[in-house]
Amino acid sequence: MTWRATVLTLFPEMFPGPLGVSLAGKALASGLWALEARDIRASATDKHRSVDDTPAGGGPGMVLRADVLAAAIDAAEIAPDRPRLLMSPRGRPLTQSRVMELAAGSGPLIVCGRFEGIDQRVIEARGLEEVSVGDYVLSGGEIAAMALIDACVRLLPGVMGKEASGAEESFAEGLLEYPQYTRPQVFEGRTIPEILTSGDHAKVAAWRRAEAEALTRSRRPDLWALNARQKRPKNTTDG
Ligand code: SAH
Repeated sequence: MTWRATVLTLFPEMFPGPLGVSLAGKALASGLWALEARDIRASATDKHRSVDDTPAGGGPGMVLRADVLAAAIDAAEIAPDRPRLLMSPRGRPLTQSRVMELAAGSGPLIVCGRFEGIDQRVIEARGLEEVSVGDYVLSGGEIAAMALIDACVRLLPGVMGKEASGAEESFAEGLLEYPQYTRPQVFEGRTIPEILTSGDHAKVAAWRRAEAEALTRSRRPDLWALNARQKRPKNTTDG
């Protein structure tokens, strides 16, 4: 079955947007994955088609109504095995390992919030899993949903040119990726590290590993520590 993303949004016209070009776009056009953007407003019932209302308890902004959103979720008729996600700054931060799980399944339902967010009761009543794309606030869930979908789609079989290219990149082993170089050999007086042009594959691999470890240690001590806890034997020195 084709991997499918079903997106609930007030702005379906934003899709496929950037997902319609390059790698993801070609794969979409050739049917390697499917995208369905559904308008939440289509489930509004009053004559003004309103989807939001003022927050209970007061405060600025508007909140997406539970009844309208629940109706929109139900109308999408999502198979029970598909994850139901809500893009939300309060969610668990998205990681490459969660992306790999999502890419391996049949594809998620993704609810995009707007305004101040959505009524808590629909999160509970429809079992939505809150997912964040980082500790900052966007104006809506659409760009966050696109980031999540893009990260999944490039992992689908047949989407990336070389099957192998996913295995070595950042986070694949809990490490950031080593530096990359290509021609010209000299750029503004800077040369490519000699090892990379030596033809010695074992040395190249060792150099890349060492660079990846040094980068991860200095830039992402959090990842490094996590990695150390999960993967390396206890007695390894860890600096
Ligand atoms: N008042 C909310 C923010 C609402 S932003 C709060 O303080 O938590 C409006 C919508 O944008 C959210 O409902 C969510 O769907 C989306 N959004 C904003 N930041 C996001 C992030 N970091 N990750 C995922 N979605 C985000």
